[in-house]
Amino acid sequence: MVRKMKKMKKINMKQTKHNIKMAETKRKSGRKADEMRPISAKVGIIPNANGSAMFQSGKTIAIAAVYGPKEHHPRSQRNPSRGTLRCTYNMLSFSVTDRIRPGSNRRSTEISKIIGWALEPVLMLDKYPGKVIDVCINMIQADAGTRCAGINAAAMALAHAGIPMKNMVSSIAAGKLDKTIVLDLDKYEDSEFEGGEGSTDIPITFTNDGKLTHIQVDGHITVEQLKEAMKMTREASKKIYEVQKQALKDSVGGGEK
Ligand code: ADP
Repeated sequence: MVRKMKKMKKINMKQTKHNIKMAETKRKSGRKADEMRPISAKVGIIPNANGSAMFQSGKTIAIAAVYGPKEHHPRSQRNPSRGTLRCTYNMLSFSVTDRIRPGSNRRSTEISKIIGWALEPVLMLDKYPGKVIDVCINMIQADAGTRCAGINAAAMALAHAGIPMKNMVSSIAAGKLDKTIVLDLDKYEDSEFEGGEGSTDIPITFTNDGKLTHIQVDGHITVEQLKEAMKMTREASKKIYEVQKQALKDSVGGGEK
């Protein structure tokens, strides 16, 4: 029985390697399985905010603005022992080809919460009892991976606002196209790919010392595939961190090109 399981595990491993190789020719964008879209970042884009940043990944563009720490209104929601992080994610009407109805909906409410949970572990909210920090994330272009781009922009905006942080966080999704693990799904891969088992995305957020603050998994995935997804995203998060760090340095005029 044990031998049979070991054999099955071996076959699974082989399948994973085989599938990753296949993905190199399979992705419509021509990207390799472990290749993310081009990224860029800029800090200090909204003068009226206490902190602000833009993060772009391919055609997805997030802008984040931080207001606070400030008095928490309504007072009934005030936490007397620590500060509150209030994130609001919004996909603008013109961010996708078909105009989206403006205002919040179930998806934006869920993503707002997720972004807050991904950021909170690195914030020292106990320094601001009774106060609130507002983080407004707007997607001006959405081509999949918006929650990750939003987290990356928000983390830079918080640092730019001078909010004490234990670490930076960097976020990126891995995904599964049929049985193959790939990095950073674009909109076609996320929503239109129909081969085999279809597609699933797995957004993951790491601190810059490699700890997880957020992971979302739905759909079918094996332990081996999840390990591969973690490995790819961990490596990619280091590259994202370097871009975030450089953007922050540039904003104080200390950046080296
Ligand atoms: P994420 O953007 O974090 O990957 P989703 O998987 O929910 O989150 O969305 C994937 C992509 O689908 C979005 O980036 C966007 O391009 C598109 N999308 C999501 N919701 C809508 C919508 N209501 N109308 C049109 N496109 C949408």
